[in-house]
Amino acid sequence: MLIQHAELVSFHNQKVTTSLADVRIEHGHVSAIGDLQKASGESVIDANHCLLLPGIHDHHVHFLSWAASLGSVPCGPPAVRGAPALNAALHAAPGDGWIRGIGYHDSVAGEITRQWLDQHGPGRPIRIQHRSGRMWIVNSLALDWLRAAASEALTIQQRRVFDAVDGRLFDADEAVRACLPGDISMVEDASTRLARQGITAFNDMTPSNSPQTFALFERMQNEGHIRQSFLMSGQADLGTVASGARNIGATKVHLHEAGLPEFREFIATIARSHETNRPVAVHCVTETELVYALAAFRDAGTIDGDRIEHASVVPPQLISPLCDLQLLVVTQPGFVYERGDSYMQEIPASEHGWLYRARSLIEAGIGVAFSSDMPFTEPAPWRSMQAATTRMTCGGRTLGAAEAVSPDVALASSLGSLAAPATPRTIAVSESTDLCLLDRNWVEASADLSAIQVRATMQGAAFTYLDGSWQNLPPGNTRCD
Ligand SMILES: [Zn+2]
Repeated sequence: MLIQHAELVSFHNQKVTTSLADVRIEHGHVSAIGDLQKASGESVIDANHCLLLPGIHDHHVHFLSWAASLGSVPCGPPAVRGAPALNAALHAAPGDGWIRGIGYHDSVAGEITRQWLDQHGPGRPIRIQHRSGRMWIVNSLALDWLRAAASEALTIQQRRVFDAVDGRLFDADEAVRACLPGDISMVEDASTRLARQGITAFNDMTPSNSPQTFALFERMQNEGHIRQSFLMSGQADLGTVASGARNIGATKVHLHEAGLPEFREFIATIARSHETNRPVAVHCVTETELVYALAAFRDAGTIDGDRIEHASVVPPQLISPLCDLQLLVVTQPGFVYERGDSYMQEIPASEHGWLYRARSLIEAGIGVAFSSDMPFTEPAPWRSMQAATTRMTCGGRTLGAAEAVSPDVALASSLGSLAAPATPRTIAVSESTDLCLLDRNWVEASADLSAIQVRATMQGAAFTYLDGSWQNLPPGNTRCD
């Protein structure tokens, strides 16, 4: 296949330079770039001077949670505010089986429990995920159901998460998943939605990811349900999967301020991971967690690819330690857009400039990569890039204006590979096809990145997404070479 008149980008000191070229794709690889003539029998796409970019790699996702969220009832702001609205949302849930709620926040109806749900919810099994992602709140029907299923599916140790009589189940994701087999059509839907945004690869950062989760993802990919490439980060024992498997990512350490791991043990976890050449990714959403992570890395040392997830709060004095340790920061501009308004209410104004920083980190020489943390923000990379340039919340306020980056930097921060998230890729000969074609050129796109529409996403020898506007291709053509 020949893509004619495409605008390609390259980066010099985080500045975008564009050029026009034709790109030939053969056998799932880019075989030539330049001023090319159509070969006989070759299908042709006229890009019409629009951008042809490397596909977007999302460096921090929870793919199965995102897939499950597609059939879920929003239970928190902005969709649901106050107990009556939560009641209404639960009673309006379609179907008659399980209700899966997401995004609950205590501002809705306080610390709700099993008893609250029994009293106010409909008579169906209900499970609601707290916005932190660390807790499920279930009603009695759900709890009975889970306990019964757990006696078959789980060890006695694993079943303990269901002991909580108030129905507030902490860190129960894996146990709940084992008891409630998912629906594969939601996985396909999730993958298709990502392709529509130009996403061709993701790093699944779920802390509980185990060799079993890896096998599940591999199977879903082989069977065509997941169309993206993936890297899986997670538990230390993930490294035992087919030793040297290319798509094993970092060891994930999920710090939680209220229950930090013993410091020596934390350092040993980092050291063990480094011994097998696996980087470590540490979840840090508070200042204390970041201080703790930096202290541990200082003791254990760092290797290429070690990273801080979120870096939600970075006080000024922690910027240079981050830089000295050469840690990557994988951040989510989507939180500025989606949750910025509640941060501005809940967090003292003096700290607003410390939240989800980008510019100050990049200027200090720290590698920064954007990601979604789906389902905790929407996988909407173009909207997130725009939020990184404006720091605008969905309520129209500005959060940490000094952290705004240029459109060029926002794009550069979104085009890293899974292996090197902070280094933007460009389209090159002999690379495997991993591309997205947009509906506009860079001059137009940079005026409002959130307005970008993807026209086609190509991965290997196939289109994973193709919008309806093609004249040149025969209908039903899903191959791109
Ligand atoms: Zn996450």
